[in-house]
Amino acid sequence: IVDSAAEPPANDRDSSDKAGTHLLCVVRALLKKIRRRVLVGDTVLVGSVDWVDRRGMIEDVFERKTEIIDPPVANVDHLLVLFSMEQPKLEPFTLTRFLVEAESTGIPFTLVLNKCELVEGEVRGTTHITIVSVCHDINYATLAFQHVMLTISAWEDRLCTWGYEPLFCSIESKYGLVGLEDILKGQTTVIVGPSGVGKSSLINYLRSDQHNEELNDLYIEGVKWLGDQRVGEVSKKSGRGKHITRHVSLLPLTGGGYLADTPGFNQPSLLKVTKKTLDDAFPEIRERLTANNPAQCLFNDCLHLGEPGCIVKGDWERYPYYLQLLDEIKIREEFQ
Ligand code: GDP
Ligand code: ZN
Repeated sequence: IVDSAAEPPANDRDSSDKAGTHLLCVVRALLKKIRRRVLVGDTVLVGSVDWVDRRGMIEDVFERKTEIIDPPVANVDHLLVLFSMEQPKLEPFTLTRFLVEAESTGIPFTLVLNKCELVEGEVRGTTHITIVSVCHDINYATLAFQHVMLTISAWEDRLCTWGYEPLFCSIESKYGLVGLEDILKGQTTVIVGPSGVGKSSLINYLRSDQHNEELNDLYIEGVKWLGDQRVGEVSKKSGRGKHITRHVSLLPLTGGGYLADTPGFNQPSLLKVTKKTLDDAFPEIRERLTANNPAQCLFNDCLHLGEPGCIVKGDWERYPYYLQLLDEIKIREEFQ
């Protein structure tokens, strides 16, 4: 947001290149003094604008809707939790840890399962069936295909009982990517997920989107400039390790919205989750507590471990995971 006193001259105002103009800005000394950090994704007030050289000064930082630490981005309004069906194989407890971590940020998220083409055959939703492995036995071929359908739809049904509606895709075979791009529209997204599931591949795919070329030029200019800033030195001054200052940019997406060019957490710390808030990170429990309203657990601080008057029974698939995470969090809290 440009300070009204610094708006472009009236005769220049309708020139189309003002919208989306990139300005190279310094941060006002006063902001630094009061330790107001400017983050990628922030909405800021810019003054002292030089429209010819495209420079300005950041005068103020507006209140953030959200703020995540890794990568440091303000106003993220969507997380994409990415896992793969195979290589590495989808593993329910690891997935649960990530889902719990994502839930704890309070930011809406979408669960996406990649590498669908590796599920022994062709992905569903296509009219033609291709068996990837060469197979002369028609019965075996039919069985293999049924297995693919089962694996994907079994996971879909399973995740539905957890309270999630996953999206299936394959970056390799370009399956499901249109639907995925649709979800990213108009939002600022950070991709999270364990290593090897395709986070960088997805970022690269969206970055190389040919409609994005023009914007990418500007983005590259920005990176060059950031490179000149000698991030290492700055971090030495502030007494922090070099590795803390991590470079992150927002890639503008074709349909509007942004994507952080660096993935977020790939090892959930669960630091924001306490033993009292863990139940809120499980839709299975959340649902019971609201669906049965006004019936509630007898004790306010019920941990759903079979306390008298508890309305959460252990009859759901992830209950053992809930118990396991609860133990882990209890131990952490005891040592704090
Ligand atoms: P990251 O660690 O999550 O960033 O994962 P990468 O993007 O580095 O991908 C790990 C490996 O998986 C790379 O060799 C990718 O080429 C591969 N990969 C990514 N997407 C797919 C896919 O849809 N199918 C297959 N078969 N491999 C994929
Ligand atoms: Zn309870």
